Amino acid sequence: MENPNTNCLEGMQCPNCESFGPFNIAAEVMCVVHDDGSETFGDHCWTSESYCQCPQCGYEATVAKFSGETAALSSEKKMRRFVESIAALSLWDWDDDQGQPKNECEEPDDGYLDSHQALMNYVEAARLLLKEIDNV
Ligand SMILES: [Zn+2]
Repeated sequence: MENPNTNCLEGMQCPNCESFGPFNIAAEVMCVVHDDGSETFGDHCWTSESYCQCPQCGYEATVAKFSGETAALSSEKKMRRFVESIAALSLWDWDDDQGQPKNECEEPDDGYLDSHQALMNYVEAARLLLKEIDNV
């Protein structure tokens, strides 16, 4: 999913639960401090090194971790999902290392042609995934 944050949270996402916010960020603020108390005034700001917490899952890190490492993590997740989608396919007309038949489904209607079709789709999907990851 494309990151919808374009303003105060530009590009930010929780690296733990993938939430797009809101986040709790420790900001710096100016205060007028009297002997008997203080009052904030003016603007507040934070940096990439400021503390940031995700209220959804409680994950804590710097603002930088919520911004920068998200891309790398989602590439990893994309690759994992791709591998999982291949691993989830059923074996048919196949033997394990001991020569025991492994047939997790019936032979598809178009037999080996279906398998070839699936393999070509996966080759294309893998190339697309590599392009996506390289462009991050
Ligand atoms: Zn989170």
